[in-house]
Amino acid sequence: MDLLSTLVDKGLRREAPTRDEALAVLRTPDEDVLDVVAAAGRVRRAFFGRRVKLNYLVNLKSGLCPEDCSYCSQRLGSGAGILKYSWLKADEAAEAAAAGVAGGAKRVCLVASGRGPTDRDVDRVSETIAAIKDRHGDVEVCACLGLLSDGQAERLKSAGADAYNHNLNTSEATYADICTTHGYEDRVQTVQQAQAAGMSACSGLIAGMGESDEDLVDVVFALRALDPDSVPVNFLIPFEGTPLAGEWDLTPRRCLKILAMTRFVCPDVEVRLAGGREIHLRTLQPLALHLANSVFLGDYLTSEGQAGKADLEMIADAGFEVEEAGTTTLPPHRADGPAAADPPAGEPVREAGTAGTARTDLVAVRRRGAGTELPPNA
Ligand code: SF4
Repeated sequence: MDLLSTLVDKGLRREAPTRDEALAVLRTPDEDVLDVVAAAGRVRRAFFGRRVKLNYLVNLKSGLCPEDCSYCSQRLGSGAGILKYSWLKADEAAEAAAAGVAGGAKRVCLVASGRGPTDRDVDRVSETIAAIKDRHGDVEVCACLGLLSDGQAERLKSAGADAYNHNLNTSEATYADICTTHGYEDRVQTVQQAQAAGMSACSGLIAGMGESDEDLVDVVFALRALDPDSVPVNFLIPFEGTPLAGEWDLTPRRCLKILAMTRFVCPDVEVRLAGGREIHLRTLQPLALHLANSVFLGDYLTSEGQAGKADLEMIADAGFEVEEAGTTTLPPHRADGPAAADPPAGEPVREAGTAGTARTDLVAVRRRGAGTELPPNA
């Protein structure tokens, strides 16, 4: 049986591919990328049909972080010209969230910069969750507040948080290269704390930070082992003023292969097309919907995405449908529970096209929505 048939069969059985099979997906020649998309798309459709879940980000606190994550525009010493503000009030955050819900978002992601919340911060977020749930009883709320201390996950769960996000971002072996102020194991622990408290775990990665194929496979297999319900796949947004400003190594085909590999390794999990999709997938964005069953609507935390209206049109044009409130995202076996050919030897296949060419014109710092007087993009 050929590699893609093997991967589809394993995916449909929820069986992990081997590491070599996952590496081979990343190393597929560009001319075969549509075959990879079609194969991984079969797995996506088997578990999620043609539904696309929309998620909406609200940045509760922007910039001024003491941590030094090198990919982040909010890091210590960042020279990126982003919006900086302290905590939004509960009503302000609920107002921002309402724009996303009106655009079709089923989940609102409440994010705050910083190493982790104080107990007072957990109080603030609890008030915000209540304000959002008052207005939209059926919206899912995910909190993303950094590393959690003892008892905080339980408090967030009691306050009504449905989910908690904390990304692994990259492989354990390279984590120290992207951050020195906290470690990979801290991140794993926070995801596990969220799961133990009964929240749905969301944890993903950032591709395009100079990592190897092996690193990507490592982090996706680590995510499978951690068993989150959702896996956001981010593509680095190389902000001017951050250490990774010069990293423009992704091509649209490479992004599709990364998403396909993630789908094969995490076949029945909500794979979310996340930050950086517009600037790296560009005109190939619609193909990514065959792999991911979830996207962020509109803008990101500190940068602008494409218009929410364009997201909705893209989903419809590609033959997908926005997942409605009341629909269970995960397949029943997950929702009900707790949460062939050898790879080519030698060097990875190098991408033709625009890899390595800086496209700073594509990165727009967010100037609208939460923390501003301007209406949000949803
Ligand atoms: S802890 Fe979060 S906000 Fe702070 S630098 Fe890292 S990713 Fe950015």
